[in-house]
Amino acid sequence: KVIIAWFRQDLRIRDNPVLAEVLRRDAAVLPVYIHAPEEDGAWAPGAASRWWLYHALAGLAGDLEALGLPLVIRRGSPEEALTSIVASMRGAGHPVDSVACARVYEPDRVQHDEQVREVLDEVGVGWWQGNASLLIEPEHVCNKSGDPFRVFTPFWKHLRGLPPEPPVAVDADRLEAPDHVPDSLALDDLELLPTRSWDDGIAAAWDPSPAGARTVLEDFVEERVTAYKRCRDVPGVNGTSRLSPYLHSGQVGPRQVWAAVHAAGGADNDGGFTFLSEVAWREFAYHLLHHFPRTTDEPMYEKYRDFPWAPDPQALQAWQKGRTGYPFVDAGMRQLWKTGWMHNRVRMVAASFLVKHLLQPWQDGARWFWDTLVDADLASNTMGWQWVAGSGADAAPYFRIFNPFGQGEKFDPDGDYVREFVPELAGLPDKYIHRPWEAPDEVLAKAGVVLGETYPEPIIEHRAGRQRALDALEATRQQA
Ligand code: FAD
Repeated sequence: KVIIAWFRQDLRIRDNPVLAEVLRRDAAVLPVYIHAPEEDGAWAPGAASRWWLYHALAGLAGDLEALGLPLVIRRGSPEEALTSIVASMRGAGHPVDSVACARVYEPDRVQHDEQVREVLDEVGVGWWQGNASLLIEPEHVCNKSGDPFRVFTPFWKHLRGLPPEPPVAVDADRLEAPDHVPDSLALDDLELLPTRSWDDGIAAAWDPSPAGARTVLEDFVEERVTAYKRCRDVPGVNGTSRLSPYLHSGQVGPRQVWAAVHAAGGADNDGGFTFLSEVAWREFAYHLLHHFPRTTDEPMYEKYRDFPWAPDPQALQAWQKGRTGYPFVDAGMRQLWKTGWMHNRVRMVAASFLVKHLLQPWQDGARWFWDTLVDADLASNTMGWQWVAGSGADAAPYFRIFNPFGQGEKFDPDGDYVREFVPELAGLPDKYIHRPWEAPDEVLAKAGVVLGETYPEPIIEHRAGRQRALDALEATRQQA
């Protein structure tokens, strides 16, 4: 008996329920990856995600190869790719019993899976799906009235009360390849890597291999989780786990993270507890994506539909390039461009600056993040942007507007973060590093800073931007 293990966002061997199912059914396994960007509609993987995907697939293929299991790579519509593989296996006398894969939650993929399942049914091939990506399936969590949660705290309380599922055991040495293996593309044929090299900074910042995934989790749990609560908001120190791209690609599963933190006794201290609550935000994001799929493009609440945005390509571009004149925001945007990742505190401040001070639609910011983040994730990105814009579940109230330099002074008091990513300001003393426009001329001259030349003047004055955002909210309120 042959089962196709269709790898999707579960690019790992350990804790993989699909492989465990193959073993449970005593079948040979044919690992398959299908690159199908068209299946994702408007949310096909962006450039940084494709870079990550390339390396994650190379790592997975290597791990499978070591077990004697070749990874079959195809491109195009999943139903065509799968039926062609099924036909090849049948022709060689090794019929496929079923296709097993991890469940996905992105609305376009969920819809497409129905078609895939029907087409497979027509050719007599079964279908099995399991949970590789979440601690708990979205429909298993609901409030007392049976409705989905829209507020995080009760969601988290509910989740905490459920018995955590252990990672799925996979006895990988028992996995066997079928006697026939259909044709495969080479990984390079998927054209995931950039043709013009812009990825040096990303390559220097990350190890996207399976060993890298294991090391990042182990190091964090052993060395840093206890200090997480204290350090997580300080972008100038390495205080968070940086597990997000591994979790997104499924190189690490949330059950493994949960178990590792518990095994190290981390859940009993403030650091571990706070960290697990952040992992629960990821679960909450998937819960929302599942129950409110249209929020990827539209505000969750009707009253924000006609919000008076002021689209301005120049303002958007200044933000994208990290040239707003607010060092903390600019450092974040440049960290993103250079390394494919931005610290969560700075994501909140930079995103807020775009939608509030600059009045640009949150969807434009979400698109930019989508293309530049190595951890771009439809659930978390959508929730993050709707939260910042004030239009989503458990959102920040619209009138709470982050002060773009006050946040820098609070969370980057020594200016280390700004100095790393905005080097042209490095010579400024701490007092002015977050508000160079207040520095006396001689201080600027000594630091080699010429505002408007070596570094921009603020794109909008803070109080004016804040007031404009509040006025826009007031206008929306009156319309509602
Ligand atoms: P840690 O602090 O170590 O947290 C551990 C894990 O918990 C993370 O890896 C992540 O999986 C999860 N997590 C932590 N915070 C959040 C959160 N606020 N929402 C959802 N999950 C969370 N995260 C993504 O993974 N992909 C995105 O595309 C994404 N877009 C965002 C957009 C905006 C505007 C904002 C404000 C946040 C976004 N986040 C996104 C959430 C968060 O910024 C990142 O998950 C976090 O910075 C990743 O770094 P880490 O792994 O070191 O996090």
